[in-house]
Amino acid sequence: MTKPTMPNDYPAGSHTDAIGQSAPAALLNDLTASKISFDISTESRAQHGRDWWPLSIRDVNEGRVPHWPGVVVMPTTTEEVSKVIKIAAKHKISVTPQGGRSGVVGGAVAVDGAIALDLTGLDKIININADSGLVHVEAGVFGPDLEKAVNEKGWTVGHFPQSFDLATVGGWLACRGAGQFSNRYGKIEDIVRGLTVVLANGDIVKIGDRGPRQAVGPDLLQLFVGSEGTLGVLTEATLLLRVKPTYELRSAYSFDTFKDGLEACQNIFKRGAKPAVLRLYDEAESKRNFQIEQCALIVLDEGDQGLCDATMKVVSEECSKATKLDDSHVATWLSHRNNVSSLVPLWEAGIIVDTIEVSGSWDILSDMHQKVVAALKEVPTTMAASVHQSHAYDDGACLYFTFAGRPGGDPTNYYRSAWDAASKTVLASGGALSHHHGVGRNRARFVKEALGSSFEVLQTMKRALDPENIMNPGALGIGGEPW
Ligand SMILES: Cc1cc2nc3c(=O)[nH]c(=O)nc-3n(C[C@H](O)[C@H](O)[C@H](O)COP(=O)(O)OP(=O)(O)OC[C@H]3O[C@@H](n4cnc5c(N)ncnc54)[C@H](O)[C@@H]3O)c2cc1C
Repeated sequence: MTKPTMPNDYPAGSHTDAIGQSAPAALLNDLTASKISFDISTESRAQHGRDWWPLSIRDVNEGRVPHWPGVVVMPTTTEEVSKVIKIAAKHKISVTPQGGRSGVVGGAVAVDGAIALDLTGLDKIININADSGLVHVEAGVFGPDLEKAVNEKGWTVGHFPQSFDLATVGGWLACRGAGQFSNRYGKIEDIVRGLTVVLANGDIVKIGDRGPRQAVGPDLLQLFVGSEGTLGVLTEATLLLRVKPTYELRSAYSFDTFKDGLEACQNIFKRGAKPAVLRLYDEAESKRNFQIEQCALIVLDEGDQGLCDATMKVVSEECSKATKLDDSHVATWLSHRNNVSSLVPLWEAGIIVDTIEVSGSWDILSDMHQKVVAALKEVPTTMAASVHQSHAYDDGACLYFTFAGRPGGDPTNYYRSAWDAASKTVLASGGALSHHHGVGRNRARFVKEALGSSFEVLQTMKRALDPENIMNPGALGIGGEPW
């Protein structure tokens, strides 16, 4: 069974004082009677009090656990999850579902005294339906385990987030994630066909699994995709499979300006060509990643030869005014694309780095790009702010910003100011607060503005499905005080 990988470890001798209280004895007695594994050790509770949110890296380095879960519970089946939630509801104790804890916005950071519900024991691939191209899988399965199993039968799920090695199927769905090849395979909301969900009262509900689409009211599957553990626990999913590709094409170009590159991306999509990977980097990121001065565009497509050839012909025509680069730049990107090692050394050196992925329609993208970079650079001690376009659509794209600052002392104020500056600028520009990392705790303070008049609809669903507010309170900007 694959286990979560965290960016850094607590220094030896941490947690010798100020250890948060473990869960009440009555709750632990009920867990013991249910025969579901749980752990109240200091080490396990501290580990489950953090995820890949960069602020957690700083806390861990300094041996701090800002929020101690009361107990870590490790179910291995949907029925066991249901029993845990019933126990939590009886004792009115919060529950934070956790997969790989690779979330970067603090969504899996448990609240004080909560049950940290470690779902990585739900690790079975239940069935591969080769007749229709579907896989039924438990929520705690990690990407590489799932991909290996379906690859052996000639299929791919096609969902490859940068955190592929770190994250689970349940986390992909709960965060509404996007893989790096998603222009061809779709985002996780396009790939899911069925879900098993344990609601806040412990009821088990099955949704979907009746073919590719149904017109039987609103899509209840999508209610839970992106719910970040606040509406229920996702325990099983059915995902769409595609034939594992045997044909692939690559190309690379450079543009004088980021705006020119965005126009080319839009024109490629306007003509119906959707290469799996179409990533455009600004000058700073092109230099950092590819050692070139202009804005690099790297393109990769895979699948049926006829489709790939046609797609790449459109790409080449729409990039006719750009400079053709050596295709080896795509190999450079492929070799680094899942490298997650750079974050910790920078934070340890006092350089505060994070990424902010947002989206917007084509008409606002170029302007939003410039305003967000300018807003980040105006935050005192910012050293760098840059962007790339990582996922494209017919009507717009995802812009993925990276910022770095060296504030000295406690980084929290700088970190918060940078996020405030970027998020407020995105919302004022008409963009979406997040494209694929989700809200977690870090972005909770912006959700009301981001959803506008529809925020109350989300609140109403939360109150209806979780009247006692036990499911991950505070994540997604609902059910608790924002960070
Ligand atoms: C280096 C790096 C690169 C990344 N790149 C990408 C990327 O390319 N694309 C992308 O989409 N994301 C990316 N992420 C973010 C993160 O990996 C994803 O959000 C991922 O889907 C989280 O999965 P997880 O299993 O780790 O979930 P966790 O971090 O454990 O949980 C995330 C949230 O989902 C909830 N949750 C988890 N499992 C369940 C469940 N079964 N039922 C209900 N709620 C649940 C948690 O309560 C929490 O709110 C990246 C992260 C890192 C560290």
